[in-house]
Amino acid sequence: MRPFPRLLSPVQIGAVRLPNRVLMGSMHTGLEERGDWDRVAAFYAARASAGLIVTGGMAPNREGGVFPGAAGLFSDEDIANHRRVTDAVHAAGGRIAMQILHAGRYAYGPDCVAPSALRSPISPFAPKELDAAGIDAQAAAFAVAARRAVLAGYDGVEVMGSEGYFLNQFLAVRTNRRRDAWGGSPEARRRLPLDVVRRVRAALGPDRALIYRISLIDLVEGGQSWDDVAALAREVQEAGADALNSGIGWHEARVPTIATSVPRAAWAWLTARLRREVSIPVIASNRINAPETAEDLLARGDADLVSLARPFLADPDFVAKAARGRAREIAPCIACNQACLDHTFSGRVATCLVNPRAAHETELAIVPAPRPKRIAVVGAGPAGLSAALTAAERGHDVTLFEREAAIGGQLNLARAVPGKEEFSPLVHWFETMLEIRRIDLRLGRAATAADLASYDEVVVATGVRPRDPRIPGQDLPHVATYADILTGRVVAGPRVAVIGAGGIGFDLSEFLVSGGPPPPDLAGWTAEWGVGDPALSPGGLAPGGPAPHPPLREVTLLQRRGGTPGRNLGRTTGWIHRASLRMKGVRMLGGVSYERIVPEGLWVRLGDAGEAQLIPAETIVLCAGQECERTLADELIARGRPVHVIGGAELAAELDARRAIDQGTRLAAML
Ligand code: NAP
Ligand code: SF4
Repeated sequence: MRPFPRLLSPVQIGAVRLPNRVLMGSMHTGLEERGDWDRVAAFYAARASAGLIVTGGMAPNREGGVFPGAAGLFSDEDIANHRRVTDAVHAAGGRIAMQILHAGRYAYGPDCVAPSALRSPISPFAPKELDAAGIDAQAAAFAVAARRAVLAGYDGVEVMGSEGYFLNQFLAVRTNRRRDAWGGSPEARRRLPLDVVRRVRAALGPDRALIYRISLIDLVEGGQSWDDVAALAREVQEAGADALNSGIGWHEARVPTIATSVPRAAWAWLTARLRREVSIPVIASNRINAPETAEDLLARGDADLVSLARPFLADPDFVAKAARGRAREIAPCIACNQACLDHTFSGRVATCLVNPRAAHETELAIVPAPRPKRIAVVGAGPAGLSAALTAAERGHDVTLFEREAAIGGQLNLARAVPGKEEFSPLVHWFETMLEIRRIDLRLGRAATAADLASYDEVVVATGVRPRDPRIPGQDLPHVATYADILTGRVVAGPRVAVIGAGGIGFDLSEFLVSGGPPPPDLAGWTAEWGVGDPALSPGGLAPGGPAPHPPLREVTLLQRRGGTPGRNLGRTTGWIHRASLRMKGVRMLGGVSYERIVPEGLWVRLGDAGEAQLIPAETIVLCAGQECERTLADELIARGRPVHVIGGAELAAELDARRAIDQGTRLAAML
């Protein structure tokens, strides 16, 4: 039988016929602002097997840019640049639409504009309130951008009407306090978005697709009711949209919407409800990262298409592999945000933890090796695995040694953490690819220098070992390492003190208060984060607020550095980890010094002058960071053997899977 029959069946978006029902959702890569349009073109062309690509958001005018200098379609020169992108995608057999994104009060600059002069909680800039002429100018700018998109060769546009951006700001009383023709009633608040859709439709003409991204649940106080959303959907259809894409939550919402702890397809129930309101196709979005999830969703009738964004960073051939019956070879997006959104929000080009080539297609080329070599890789953690796979892809003969009985290294600890279950498919993918690339895998085997003597190249990726914090009393039997706890070798008591509040201290605390897998079901997750029904409470926040599961243990999380722990966690996900632990009563203390561990718990001093105090605990867990495991590397170097040392074995500080995979891939690209 043909794989994924619904997902891979054609569909019509207005006049544009798509060969499959997969939309590559809009993502900001940061490439356009660098002016490297060949790279932009290569990035999109590599993903041409998607039914339709939607570009990263393009500002319709300067004040609507997400940040000063954000890309848009402002001039004829811009049109020529965009033409290079559309030509490349079309030459690769694909279709591409341009997203028009006006950030409104989310624009990170002093010139931002909005329906009312209300600063967003995530921006330092208060917007200017637009007058009637100003509103008309903004609507006109959408139409001009759409016209330029046609001239640039796009197959259509997506009008960004969700995530708390400009048009969404007009729709919600939270941000629209006007009492004129654009505010005061739901009908008046809808006036501008509908005007924009009509004008964009006219600018596009009948041959291009118009998708409107509609906010189905704002997840903020003062958000829209379901009646508002449904009325908007019907009127947007009437105004000329060809399809509706789903938007979930505003950027300022305090509910995770795409993070890895969000259950897969968590928001499809809203798209299913939207589908009953309109006759045009509706598109489900957020946390759909596998073709099976997408096919099930379509089979249930929850949507007509699915939108996947980050999964196309992890694997540009998502659709092509699904279509060729090679779905198990699709590199999975683990929804970590570490190399995509975290990069974007720190001004770096987006890429992918799993696939460092994403948005670096022209710079990081994997080409056949001029002379195949025999390569030994020691250590099957993320660095060693990616080095081995890339080397084999280039035609080298690769042997991979792993001391443990299974591959994965630190990934196996991560996958035990509640909310990080997506690490399991990643380890399975590595297993699959090792098999497909015929890598000689030697498990349960600590490679010796003698084992490595005959290889042309040796890559040492032996990883890290826990740092010894040298705290008096740490040899007592109730002291454990994080690995002891996450692997189940040690079961923690009812009160736990966690020494070290880095990423692993946070993960471990989550494990201690929530318990290991299985993850909560969708109903449990929505209750935990206080997600309600927008039909019952506007904005879709549960009236009673979050209802977290009672914590399994009493946990105190400590660090020596002053301030609240968790400041260095991921830029777009750190707040989720901090909020989750706070909800479960985890006590977080910074500025402590460790005095000693005793059978009753941990003696610490708070602040420089603080008195010593006992934190009562049946279990103490050490999460004090990592040191390089270089024993083998040093031995080989001492023998005069050239080696490549990568990952944690090379540098333990701030090691994460993103750096490990990137380094392994880049090294092997050159061997
Ligand atoms: P880490 O982030 O470096 O944190 C180590 C912790 O141990 C810090 O809180 C540090 O705080 C403390 N520490 C350091 N030396 C100590 C000593 N001698 N005695 C007592 N405490 C000491 O390391 P990690 O938590 O092991 O994580 C390893 C890597 O994995 C990091 O790069 C991390 O970003 C990554 N990771 C990320 C995530 C994520 O959510 N994105 C999750 C897991 C891991 P003080 O020095 O202030 O005491
Ligand atoms: Fe997905 Fe993480 Fe890659 Fe982003 S960095 S695309 S979230 S795997």
